[in-house]
Amino acid sequence: MRRVSIFGATGSIGQNTIDLIRNAQAEYDVVVLTGGRNIAQLAKDARALNADVAVTAFSDLLEDLRAALAGSGVEASAGPEALVEAASRPADWVMSAIVGAAGLKPGLAALEQGATLALANKESLVCAGALVLETARTAGARLLPVDSEHSAVFQALIGEELDTVERIIITASGGAFRDWRLEDLKDATLAQASSHPNWDMGQRITIDSASMFNKALELIETKEFFGVSPEMIEVVVHPESLIHAMVGFNDGALMAHVGPPDMRHAIGFALNWPKRRTLPVERLDLATVGEMTFRAPEEARYPALRLGRAVMNRGGLSGAVFNGAKERALDAFLAGRIGFVDMAEIVEDVLTRFEAEPGLVDETMTLETVMQTDHLARVWADSAMEKRA
Ligand code: NDP
Ligand code: MG
Repeated sequence: MRRVSIFGATGSIGQNTIDLIRNAQAEYDVVVLTGGRNIAQLAKDARALNADVAVTAFSDLLEDLRAALAGSGVEASAGPEALVEAASRPADWVMSAIVGAAGLKPGLAALEQGATLALANKESLVCAGALVLETARTAGARLLPVDSEHSAVFQALIGEELDTVERIIITASGGAFRDWRLEDLKDATLAQASSHPNWDMGQRITIDSASMFNKALELIETKEFFGVSPEMIEVVVHPESLIHAMVGFNDGALMAHVGPPDMRHAIGFALNWPKRRTLPVERLDLATVGEMTFRAPEEARYPALRLGRAVMNRGGLSGAVFNGAKERALDAFLAGRIGFVDMAEIVEDVLTRFEAEPGLVDETMTLETVMQTDHLARVWADSAMEKRA
């Protein structure tokens, strides 16, 4: 039996992962399931999958979790340290699907104990790419992509030499506002930003898709994961979301990965790797699909892409600044304190300040410097928002 743990089990990726594991439950020994505020879901799945331990990220919910697990034999624990402890429990395969920089420490702990880490939490690579890769290398642990674009690139590269790759093209749906008039974006509401045209995902990544902060994070994720230079990475808007990424080779060939917008493909690919197994995803009928269209992302509509590209070029700890500021600005948009277009302006303010105050942060990348930088970016985002208020 394969020992598996799922971090962020109550979320969109986590639930899809559980779905696949349920399909072949006899093959898996579930070690850890983690969640946040959704205690009922966490306890229900921990019971059904007979997990060793269920962890909520929030210490104040420990008693609720204990009560929900009473009599089940599943251990309960809570808080950020408990997440790291749970990630150190031996497992063969660990899904990293916590949302945000909070996923970094548990992911590192899972790699340290040698588990194969299926990485949905792109923020880990954005904030601390070099550290994550070095941790995996030292431990002899494997990292597999779960983000659909990166899974697609990974699949297109099987059997290929990296030095024959000329370019990597990741696609973007364009998000909720791809066809809006630019002057209307400032009035976009939370409900409008939270509805994705093609993918059913968690609320935060859905809003990040509307702003293209998600694609900006994915640019950085591509550079870090595949170790390619920034000029080789392109973004194209593909409203149908059927091609997830393309790899261009030195003989002019472009290998495209085509499939329905269903994360169970990328999750299942990572779960079954290095084999392929039958997955319960829709089979595309291309004659019904009819056409696939592509266009360049408009700079004025998606300022986040320009910021993400600058961060990708700069490297170092600027990824942690970018992500921390973005998370904070998104919190404020979710709380109704700032508007949709303000998010990119806040993040740009914080990045500008980071460049203007060199030497403030030690740029050697360690877990401590990454966490300090993440914290600083959030404080700066708050002060940028206060100034505007
Ligand atoms: P969701 O918001 O649906 O789920 C997030 C998970 O993290 C939940 O289990 C949530 O718990 C938990 N959580 C929330 N806050 C914290 C915290 N502070 N500490 C620890 N755990 C926390 O997110 P998604 O599943 O959409 O996304 C997860 C990750 O996967 C993100 O990094 C995202 O970018 C990436 N991803 C997602 C895709 C998708 O299709 N959804 C596609 C590609 C990448 P609870 O809900 O119980 O509060
Ligand atoms: Mg993606």
